[in-house]
Amino acid sequence: MHVVVVGGGLAGMASAIWLTEAGHRVTLLERRGSLGGRTISMPLAAVDDVPDNGQHVFASGYEHLMRYLDSVGTRKFVEFPGHMTVRMPGGATRRSGFGGISGLRAAFGDLPGVRGVDRLRTVRAQTRLVAQALRQPAWLDDVTADEWFRRIGMPQSARDALWDGIVIGLTGDKTEISSAKVPADLLVTGMRRAIATRTPVSIGYPSVDLDTLFIAGAEKVFADHGVEVRHRAVVSSVNVTDGAVTGVTLAGGDTVAADAVICAVPVWNIRGLLDQVPGHEAIYAAAQQLTPVPIVSVNLYLDRDIGMTDWGEILYGGEGVLEQVWDRQQMHGRDCTANYLYSTTVSASYELTQKSNAEITEIQMGMLRRYFPGAAAAQVVHSHVVRMPKSTFAQRPGTAGIRPDQRTAVRGLALAGDWTRTDWTVVCPPGSGAVVGALVSRGSVGTRGFRCARRVRPPVRYRTVRRRRSRVVRRRDSGRCRADRVR
Ligand SMILES: Cc1cc2nc3c(=O)[nH]c(=O)nc-3n(C[C@H](O)[C@H](O)[C@H](O)COP(=O)(O)OP(=O)(O)OC[C@H]3O[C@@H](n4cnc5c(N)ncnc54)[C@H](O)[C@@H]3O)c2cc1C
Repeated sequence: MHVVVVGGGLAGMASAIWLTEAGHRVTLLERRGSLGGRTISMPLAAVDDVPDNGQHVFASGYEHLMRYLDSVGTRKFVEFPGHMTVRMPGGATRRSGFGGISGLRAAFGDLPGVRGVDRLRTVRAQTRLVAQALRQPAWLDDVTADEWFRRIGMPQSARDALWDGIVIGLTGDKTEISSAKVPADLLVTGMRRAIATRTPVSIGYPSVDLDTLFIAGAEKVFADHGVEVRHRAVVSSVNVTDGAVTGVTLAGGDTVAADAVICAVPVWNIRGLLDQVPGHEAIYAAAQQLTPVPIVSVNLYLDRDIGMTDWGEILYGGEGVLEQVWDRQQMHGRDCTANYLYSTTVSASYELTQKSNAEITEIQMGMLRRYFPGAAAAQVVHSHVVRMPKSTFAQRPGTAGIRPDQRTAVRGLALAGDWTRTDWTVVCPPGSGAVVGALVSRGSVGTRGFRCARRVRPPVRYRTVRRRRSRVVRRRDSGRCRADRVR
């Protein structure tokens, strides 16, 4: 069977990999000149480096993401250190573990900056929060997370220390915008996974750049399996005849015939593609409600070590200005002879994204100097501001359940992408890829006369390949600056 996958982001690449492993002929059509979609590295001549477009972190329960990394041979490049650190202005830090004693301390209101009677209020509010997340009252999707926290009496100090950061970090959006149901569902999913696996859900990070983690290994699998990858192929419509998909039409007018089509474009690109699909109005209406959320990330190349104590640190009270700082020396074992790289993240950066690069850099350096004594005299060697106006989508109150299913009314057509329904209420594009892979392989997307092919999965030997550099040799045994770059 010939399957066309539209969109070469994580969802499209995961779908293509699993379909080719299952023995199907696959053509992957990508609008841009390279694969990766929203997870890419970007060459930066000024400092001779290839930083990412923004820090990506993953929950340990993202099982489909881990399966994708297994398929492309890069699972070994994700670390789950089991802790992160909250940093206060002035430099005091508090390392928090996921689960265990730290989890218990947090459950009893022992959070940074939470003192006196606020501790008791926090315990009471957290008990209500868990009970309501499990019970799922009908009004949960009518209110924002901010309103929910106020209803259950969560003290502002506990919100600053933990809860607002959790909502922003996991939903990607502000508490005043995100539906309360999104963090509630996430909490329940996380608890269920933790009980099922007897391990608390933890946050992990890539120890290599995003191209190496997601793309280079996938390209090797595509080459080995004969997947045809066509760059700069913009699909303008998915073609349907008599209720079955027949292929796609490209912007130039060419058509590509297919027995099945996986449409893995982002939510903001779906309009127009499915005009021939019965019921497309409902999908377009859902897409219109999932509005884009901006993320501003900065790759700050500094002249010195600012003294981070953990791989990732959350700045207490830094929402909207500088929420998280990532130490690429600790995370990537980066060579810091020439400079030190600190990546920063501001999710839901609706205001910050309007400012100039110079203003953003100045604001963030001001924050670093306030929170890190070691940054007081630090000089910026280079600042690389990355604005992603459409990093992910907002799930406002009233949008629960509107993310469309991967299955469509058309035989042979499935949707994939972070905005389609996955078991995580936030993004998990490979999750959607896994679903479409299974649907196609079972014949459940309804292609006529299709029989499930034998699952073929040759071992993929992974070599650390950099597309724009020659080679990275990793050395794990010599302290903080542990990688040698061979150019
Ligand atoms: C800075 C940043 C940080 C993030 N951090 C995290 C994180 O920590 N954890 C997390 O889980 N998620 C995170 N995300 C979100 C995550 O990156 C996305 O959810 C994920 O990459 C989406 O993958 P996708 O395949 O669904 O869509 P995309 O990556 O957008 O891929 C879709 C592809 O389709 C192509 N396309 C569009 N239209 C057409 C067309 N007509 N024809 C052909 N091709 C087309 C596009 O060019 C694109 O390559 C972050 C995103 C950003 C930007």
